[in-house]
Amino acid sequence: MGVGLLRLLVFDGDDTLWKTMPLYAMAKAEFARVLARGIGVPPEKAIETLEELDLKNVSRFGFSRRRFPTSMTEAYVALAADMGRRVDPTLRKRVRSIGARVFERRPFRVSDAERVLRKLRSVGLRLVLCSKGDAQIQRARIKESGLSHFFSKIYVVSEKADNEFRKVLREQRVRPEEACSVGNGVRSDINPALRVGMKAIWVRNNTWVFEKDVPIRTRRLTVVRNLREMLHSLGLAQRLRNCGRRL
Ligand SMILES: [Mg+2]
Repeated sequence: MGVGLLRLLVFDGDDTLWKTMPLYAMAKAEFARVLARGIGVPPEKAIETLEELDLKNVSRFGFSRRRFPTSMTEAYVALAADMGRRVDPTLRKRVRSIGARVFERRPFRVSDAERVLRKLRSVGLRLVLCSKGDAQIQRARIKESGLSHFFSKIYVVSEKADNEFRKVLREQRVRPEEACSVGNGVRSDINPALRVGMKAIWVRNNTWVFEKDVPIRTRRLTVVRNLREMLHSLGLAQRLRNCGRRL
């Protein structure tokens, strides 16, 4: 990435600053275990059915907290039918609670998040968080992360597309070329930011199938494996001591 005159970084939350994917992975594994025991369905088939239904359910429920537990119960009902079994209300309830637990557990920490945000702030960059999902859950995760004080503003959005980025730029009074989006989701964090003329740093973590997309090809995109690499890509690691806003 040409470093240029950068003023604003727009951070994603889930699986960029904290990890939620392991919570989903644990829930899926438990779902598969319970159904293997309960109705004899092979674990891979259980997970595949669940993931397909969950992706379809984005159009019905968006990124609300109802979607994942509902997808789990619906996957159970579909799999029970496949296996020629009747739906057991107790098992259905159990399956739903496995799905709901994803929102009750604390996300895992990303080891360098705090240090990296501190460094970015120390060179005069303005940081905002733009987190997609259920407002209540996102607010709780942000609070639990202990990172909220780094951000001048926290946006929680139900959809993260071109218009949301334009709104952030307008509110922050920053031109697109002075702003960079940082996140793990190509569909939500990277492509819309690039389309409105911003820079983008793709933190290539695990993500779920909804976010799997091909990033737009442009020199404004940088791909990194973790947040620490991001400092290097911005030329910050070497220049931290003597740079102000102009990086
Ligand atoms: Mg994310």
